[in-house]
Amino acid sequence: MSSHHQGKNQRRVIVIGAGIGGLTAGALLAKRGYAVRVFDLAIVPGGCASTFRRQGFTFDVGATQVAGLEPGGIHHRIFSELGINLPEATDCDPACAVFLPGETTPINIWRDPEQWQLERQRQFPGSETFWQLMATLFRASWQFQGRDPVLPPRNLWDVWQLIKALRPDTMVTVPFTLMTVGDALGWLGLQRDKRLKTFLDLQLKLYSQVNAQETALLYAATALGVSQSPQGLSHLKGSMQVLSDRLVEGLEKHGGELFMRHTVKQIQVTETGASTVTILNQKTGEIWTEQPDLIVANVPVQNLVNLVELPKGSENLFQQLYRRRVENLPPASGAFVVYLGVKQEAIPENCPPHLQFLYDYKGEIGENNSLFVSVSRVGDGRSPEGMATITASSFTDTQIWTNCEDYSQLKQQYETEAIARLGGYFTLNPETIVYQESATPRTFARFTGRDRGIVGGVGQRVATFGPFGLATRTPIPHLWLVGDSTHPGEGTAGVSYSALTAVRQIEAEGY
Ligand SMILES: Cc1cc2nc3c(=O)[nH]c(=O)nc-3n(C[C@H](O)[C@H](O)[C@H](O)COP(=O)(O)OP(=O)(O)OC[C@H]3O[C@@H](n4cnc5c(N)ncnc54)[C@H](O)[C@@H]3O)c2cc1C
Repeated sequence: MSSHHQGKNQRRVIVIGAGIGGLTAGALLAKRGYAVRVFDLAIVPGGCASTFRRQGFTFDVGATQVAGLEPGGIHHRIFSELGINLPEATDCDPACAVFLPGETTPINIWRDPEQWQLERQRQFPGSETFWQLMATLFRASWQFQGRDPVLPPRNLWDVWQLIKALRPDTMVTVPFTLMTVGDALGWLGLQRDKRLKTFLDLQLKLYSQVNAQETALLYAATALGVSQSPQGLSHLKGSMQVLSDRLVEGLEKHGGELFMRHTVKQIQVTETGASTVTILNQKTGEIWTEQPDLIVANVPVQNLVNLVELPKGSENLFQQLYRRRVENLPPASGAFVVYLGVKQEAIPENCPPHLQFLYDYKGEIGENNSLFVSVSRVGDGRSPEGMATITASSFTDTQIWTNCEDYSQLKQQYETEAIARLGGYFTLNPETIVYQESATPRTFARFTGRDRGIVGGVGQRVATFGPFGLATRTPIPHLWLVGDSTHPGEGTAGVSYSALTAVRQIEAEGY
């Protein structure tokens, strides 16, 4: 760390993990005068939003589209505070083209609100009351979130932030806090609209990890509303790595330090709170401990409870309840992702940047019956000239991969099946496919350290959403949690909100 940044009274922070959550928290803390060191076990920062290169192609590991780049959007706000440039990006319009089973014309989620209204009225006749309700809830929730409430509140300062963010128009959302999308559809007499339900299942599963029946209504309102202007989704020029690289620039500009290939093995807790971090340098094999003033963990909450080491019998009631709650969370999903480097001729003309396919729907979006597909654009820096990348992901049960007898065979089977399905839309054959590779939960576990390779955070059911979600404050003093396990949930925009919340709480604590 450059010495002129390190004041005598500077508080020392260790951030565990350089995902978008950890980098954002680290950079903001550095900007606000803390001495920050970020440790990450991987080779490149960015976690689920990083990239890898193969034969001239650049593949986005997981996240491919970004929300919150518009003025007032969360990435925009944070980049402004850090004094770094926003990455170059193009609009996703349509945000997504959704193909239901057996259909060849997609449902296009247009960026223009009126165009999207016309599209959905045509696609789902009689459902406008539902969409109007969602629009009303989205407007109120969005403005509320923009005033930086702290959710769920854990102390008086948090409650105060929450109250300050409330306005009369927020009240319209309150009666809906305990409702799911399924409840709203029932209430509006739309539960028999199978096509609408299937579409919602497909879209919501992407953002909330669960289907329409279970997704918290207020969360759904946001997830379904961000694709339209003045918000909207963006496709980054270069690759997703640009987002992390800029945040690293912000971190280092303000005197913070990043250490890659350093694994945090343990967080030791004493009676006064989290105290000691044990770190392994993967290159040298050296293991040492540090005693920062505070710790920000950017790992799934399931990892956090495994990292924390409390002397036996010394867990207080809150710590016990927290651990029990985490152990009892419904199983989280993993992802199976196929990465293809192809000749441009494999891509149909006017192909939208994101597509979603559902195959032979049996009532549950699960193993391999849906694919979320991202396609590179000409000149977006992801492929050599005349080529393109296709990334397709599906949800998968992590247990299948931990318990399987022949891992490589199973992986091969999933890869072949996914490519065959993609062949229904793209021209895929040995001639057009230049490179192929896939990732399973085991791959995610290895490269991002995520427990069993789970991705996407805690499902946004009513019981785990908003006021009932996981807080950035943990029951252990001096230990914060940021990332997709905490409110407001997954996505690069979501985890940036959680990072900002933790940073504000840390400052307010007077550290
Ligand atoms: C297939 C897929 C597609 C997705 N698509 C999108 C999308 O289009 N748009 C979008 O916004 N979101 C998308 N997401 C979700 C998004 O990628 C994540 O929610 C977000 O990137 C998570 O960020 P994070 O900072 O919480 O955690 P992570 O990205 O998981 O970062 C955690 C970091 O911590 C490090 N780490 C973990 N344990 C340790 C340890 N013990 N010591 C040191 N370092 C450690 C890891 O190496 C990692 O870098 C997608 C996710 C997946 C899997």
